[in-house]
Amino acid sequence: MAKHDVVLIPGDGIGPEITSAMRRVVEATGVDIAWNVQHAGAGVMGEYGTPLPQHVLDAVAATKVAIKGPITTPVGTGFRSVNVALRKHFDLYACVRPCLSQPGDGSRYRDIDLVIVRENTEDLYAGIEFGEGTPQVAELAELVKNSGQAPFRADSAISVKPISVTGSRRIVEYAFEYARRCGRKKVTAVHKANIMKETDGMYLRIAREVAAGYPDIEFNDKIVDATCMGLVQNPRDFDVLVLPNLYGDIVSDLGAGLVGGLGMAPGANIGSDVAIFEPTHGSAPDIAGKDIANPTAEILTACMMLEHLGEQEAAARIRDAVRVTLAAGEQVTGDVRRSQTGSAEGAVGTQAFADAVIANL
Ligand code: NAD
Repeated sequence: MAKHDVVLIPGDGIGPEITSAMRRVVEATGVDIAWNVQHAGAGVMGEYGTPLPQHVLDAVAATKVAIKGPITTPVGTGFRSVNVALRKHFDLYACVRPCLSQPGDGSRYRDIDLVIVRENTEDLYAGIEFGEGTPQVAELAELVKNSGQAPFRADSAISVKPISVTGSRRIVEYAFEYARRCGRKKVTAVHKANIMKETDGMYLRIAREVAAGYPDIEFNDKIVDATCMGLVQNPRDFDVLVLPNLYGDIVSDLGAGLVGGLGMAPGANIGSDVAIFEPTHGSAPDIAGKDIANPTAEILTACMMLEHLGEQEAAARIRDAVRVTLAAGEQVTGDVRRSQTGSAEGAVGTQAFADAVIANL
């Protein structure tokens, strides 16, 4: 019997390429993992009538740990996001996205080391929406009118933004516990409480309450727009940021941009029972199947998974090997090469980069 059982969901677009690179790197460390490969996404719709078949959910429920590639979500129509469905099904309430500079990552910033903790289950991402012209929108208009608040236009579509005391408390607590465990100094709660006094206002009040229980960790709060400017101007002022779902989604990509782009940013979705690891980036259909995607984010995501499994040494070895490979700058993928030299000339493919990392283990 293997020491660890892990579900591997290759996903869509560049998913199969980067997850196979990641798997080879992890296997090269000698960590004993039994990979249970399960498919989800657009590719299984024809066969199962759903992008997220029950047997995939059952497999993840059994292993409690999964690592995935990105899965395509059709825009505006078609099925809802498989990624969001997985987070909801397993109540993976904390999305953790470290943004750490790598040597030669091609970023215009150096020495970035911050962590984004995004609430993963509520907010405008809850998926409660009413289409323009529906009776529900008319009912809501009536409700708003009766509450004495300013009316909205009759031809509006409406998305509902639920932010709960429970959801806010557990994500802020997670951020503080994470800060304590990882020796971090400061937590910043990000919000728009000046405008959304009920939802974000309550989130901020809860954040302050939770912060009072962690006197060893510095706490401040910042409005989301000012946070974006601050991240661009003085990113080293930040340590751990904790955000509601939608702001967390957007600021995560900003954070990825500080450390060399989406190809470099790992991520984890953590619940009280199950953890699913996935990079920040999407399925990149524009470069799929060409062996040019950067697998670094997926490989660093595997490092987060290995730490979760208690395999700290293997995680550290892989991180060092990635750092050495990027620093050497000779066997890097096109996105990195382009930001280093202005041209992708001389770049290597996804699998060749993985080979270089393996050689540096
Ligand atoms: P994307 O992250 O797929 O791509 C944005 C840009 O970054 C593209 O130019 C792409 O080529 C580049 N890029 C992304 N990853 C890269 C990598 N590893 N190496 C090199 N370049 C990389 O974002 P998108 O185009 O907005 O989304 C495409 C699809 O992915 C959509 O269907 C979206 O819903 C889905 N998506 C899935 C997840 C997930 O599975 N968790 C996350 C985000 C987006």
